[in-house]
Amino acid sequence: PLVQQEPDASSFPNGGIRNTFEARGYSAWDISSPVFILNKTLCIPTIFISYTGESLDFKTPLLRALNAVDKAAAGVARYFDKDVKHVQSYLGWEQEYFLVDEALYAARPDLVMTGRTLMGHESAKNQQLEDHYFGAIPSRVEAFMLDLEIECHKLGIPAHTRHNEVAPNQFELAPIFEETNLANDHNLLLMSIMSEVAKRHNFRVLLHEKPFNGINGSGKHNNWSLGTDTGTLLFAPGKTPRENLRFITFVANVMAAVYRHNALLKASISSATNAHRLGANEAPPAIISIFTGSMISKIFDQLEKSTEDELIELSGKEGITVGVSQIPEIMIDNTDRNRTSPFAFTGNKFEFRMPGSAENLSDANTILNTAVAKELKQFVADVEGAADFECAAAAWVKKTLNDHRRVIFNGNGYSEAWEAEAARRGLPNRKCTPDAMVALKEEKNISLMEEFGVLTKTEMLSRYEVEMEHYSKIINIEARTMLKIASKQLIPAATSYMGEVASTAAAKIAAVEGISTKSEAKLLTALSKYTDEMSDATDALKAVTDKVSALDDETAKAHAFHDEVLPAMDTLRAAADAAEELVDEDYWPLPCYSRMLFYTE
Ligand code: ADP
Ligand code: MG
Repeated sequence: PLVQQEPDASSFPNGGIRNTFEARGYSAWDISSPVFILNKTLCIPTIFISYTGESLDFKTPLLRALNAVDKAAAGVARYFDKDVKHVQSYLGWEQEYFLVDEALYAARPDLVMTGRTLMGHESAKNQQLEDHYFGAIPSRVEAFMLDLEIECHKLGIPAHTRHNEVAPNQFELAPIFEETNLANDHNLLLMSIMSEVAKRHNFRVLLHEKPFNGINGSGKHNNWSLGTDTGTLLFAPGKTPRENLRFITFVANVMAAVYRHNALLKASISSATNAHRLGANEAPPAIISIFTGSMISKIFDQLEKSTEDELIELSGKEGITVGVSQIPEIMIDNTDRNRTSPFAFTGNKFEFRMPGSAENLSDANTILNTAVAKELKQFVADVEGAADFECAAAAWVKKTLNDHRRVIFNGNGYSEAWEAEAARRGLPNRKCTPDAMVALKEEKNISLMEEFGVLTKTEMLSRYEVEMEHYSKIINIEARTMLKIASKQLIPAATSYMGEVASTAAAKIAAVEGISTKSEAKLLTALSKYTDEMSDATDALKAVTDKVSALDDETAKAHAFHDEVLPAMDTLRAAADAAEELVDEDYWPLPCYSRMLFYTE
């Protein structure tokens, strides 16, 4: 019974694969991920499929993709080392999160219901001083982190790094990288135990990508590499020309994969919540390009100029001295960091920086590994039977560079010039989530997934439906939560405060003839205006949300939520935030940003 179970699948989103009366679904033990004990319960990592055999989970396609990349990459790696039997995909994630005091959290229905603040005026101080990253970790937070790390180690999660993040009350935990399937299970497990441990310290963890307006959101960098069972990291530069040919072959294959399956990768990380972060001038921009750094660029330049049978010597790390005797020589990495790049080569791995903090990384890694498998398979088909493998491989790399170099961008990804340049290079820039999801329906992408047996057309189409439905549901919940807060909390608060101010003004006049009530009048005029605006915006948001949620077609609905409901929410928020600035704190029912972000002790 541990190997296979039959949980009810009827209440699970399936994107129209089955009728709801067909309830059967099966879970099966994934023996590649260790079982663990949580709250005295034996937990078994499983896949989940429907009675009709379609996958309902994220794990099944991921396992299939890992198989595909193993096969394809081992085929290529064997040209360089005939002892290679398997290639593993590795994942090292970096989990960002915010902590908020439990009592303040409980007083914010928006955080409780949606994980982010739907209203709230920016704090006078936020992250302008840019001093948080290296600041001391508050002791209460440190106690939480230590406790969390102990729980991680009990469960076999190799937690490794902890630090402050860029925004106040924002932090990060990163483990040592592991085989991708296991690493992802560990990330999911971490997200769930984090919330439990936080409660012990009277904190709540916010995994939402953008809990607060005006300060950085949270991401989950996806550090990814391939390595052979003989111990070679395939994206690591080598010492000999042949090793470097291997290195550059694998890098060029990734480049081609990211170029060709750009839109699918984008779809894998798009969501209603991550949309607040991507392209919003903080996280990576919305266009997927690759940062290679100067070392690879130099190799590419040389290769482009070189004759077919020339191979290149790569230098390893170059040493530099700082000129201070107490400081040892610092080894400068082969790549600098380019924080604006969504997909960066970082020494011996690629760092995909678009995934959001709340994301399950399965989708991104399913697509990444499958897309790379496709290129590697093509590579083998192209060089197979060549008289001289090295020459053929070098020629292939050169051609691939010519064809796909457009995806490389080493400049500032936030600039408008890049947006225009990317359009010229033909890189897709699908800005909103419903647009990005269309990739799941595109013929080219469906055939990629079918070719490697990762997802069938039916599964892809059902995932599209589920994603669109999910998108609409998230915004619907947000809109309705906002409506409640505005009409039951904020408008009444503003109204009673106006009552207080008006009676104060009347009392002043009664007490002292001719006394000035200028400040009361100014305040009442302004606050009355914003309260009217809140009231109008509430009516408008209610009307549009009701209209849009009644739509039947999931595609039309998701677009309408994006195009019509989100702007109506923005209008209401603007009025509420303006009112917050005028109302006495004792009257305003929602804890303000500065309390939530700066009162940690
Ligand atoms: P950052 O500066 O972005 O915080 P780090 O150098 O701290 O990056 O590494 C972040 C993550 O990358 C860690 O989880 C680490 O385990 C992982 N990592 C390191 N090398 C590899 C690799 N070869 N493959 C996959 N992940 C890796
Ligand atoms: Mg990183």
